[in-house]
Amino acid sequence: MLQDLFFQVDIDLICKKKPVVDMDDFWVWLHSKSGEYSVKSGYWLAFQSNKPELLFEACRQPSTNGLKEKIWSTSTSPKIKLFLWRILSVALPVADQILIRGMNVNPCCQICGQEGESINHVLFTCSVARQVWELSGVPTPEFGFQNSSIFANIQFLFELSFLARVPVQVKRSWPWVLWRLWKNRNLLLFEGISFCPLSSIVKIGDDVQEWFLAQSLIRLVDLEENNRADPCRPRWDPPPIGWVKCNVGAVWSGKKKLCGGSWVVRDDRGLVLLHSRRAFGNLTTKKDSQITCVLWAIESMDSHRLSKVLFAFEPGDLLFAFVRPKAWPSFALQVSELTHFFGKDWRLENGGGKGGFKQGGFSYSSKRGQGWKATILCCSWSSALASSVL
Ligand SMILES: [Zn+2]
Repeated sequence: MLQDLFFQVDIDLICKKKPVVDMDDFWVWLHSKSGEYSVKSGYWLAFQSNKPELLFEACRQPSTNGLKEKIWSTSTSPKIKLFLWRILSVALPVADQILIRGMNVNPCCQICGQEGESINHVLFTCSVARQVWELSGVPTPEFGFQNSSIFANIQFLFELSFLARVPVQVKRSWPWVLWRLWKNRNLLLFEGISFCPLSSIVKIGDDVQEWFLAQSLIRLVDLEENNRADPCRPRWDPPPIGWVKCNVGAVWSGKKKLCGGSWVVRDDRGLVLLHSRRAFGNLTTKKDSQITCVLWAIESMDSHRLSKVLFAFEPGDLLFAFVRPKAWPSFALQVSELTHFFGKDWRLENGGGKGGFKQGGFSYSSKRGQGWKATILCCSWSSALASSVL
């Protein structure tokens, strides 16, 4: 019948939609991951529907979002990152910006006397700023920083990290140069304190050295603490005596629509009894890949006639869907498949944080009276194993 009514490409799409046959029809909100309505997703939809002209206009404008994103991965202090963001948002109170807002201030640069104090002028093209840049050793464009575009100048500085010929100590100092130029300008304007470019360079060098030294010390302390307690590293807890534990890992590649799955069974002494890896194709969503791997592991345990099995797999949406199935209607099919397999006797056994990571669990009675349990926990090692299949 499908062949009579639809093209093959549509038939493929229709066949991918699996119905939830053991439940009455229910509503699913398309614009959230869980399938439940939220005010945030409702506002998003209303904006998309009611203000298309604003969205169209925003798309036509050149965007500085790409540049702004780079700020957050720049190696510098949080206050300087915020300062860089204010530069790119043209949100520094220089004379040009204050005049635009209707206030009457002196339009001249207080440092060099040139008329028109823009952010670009203070930080790049003012004569004193040029001196500081020159003394800092930070490379500048072939014909100097641009007069017209602060975005081009900042873009140039971001690209310094790719220049191999520039010493690391020099190319990582540019955020502090900008910060010091702004501080100097404010000290002169508000406190009348003039500054010397040479002493500014010394101060910049000290600030850079102090910050990177502090970061290396913080990393050392973190490393020592991790080695001592290591609460974040996924820990393998043995199952109760007489039980075995099956850790399940799943990794999904959205580009290839491929999923790699793995499971390992160990006894209460940690001895590996069985293990397996497998690739699954044509899986279009991450949740499909996770449920496929869990079902595959459960079926494998069944075919190996193993009883008293504790299942462990990564926390995530699947866990939340099991805990609150009504709040996750998008996962109704996945919950239904597992519930069907386990005989509809799931209950939360163990919730909340334990050992520094989330752990929740479910126990159930299987149809054949086997004692099986499932628990959800971090198991990055089994995910790593799964990724080797892809
Ligand atoms: Zn100036």
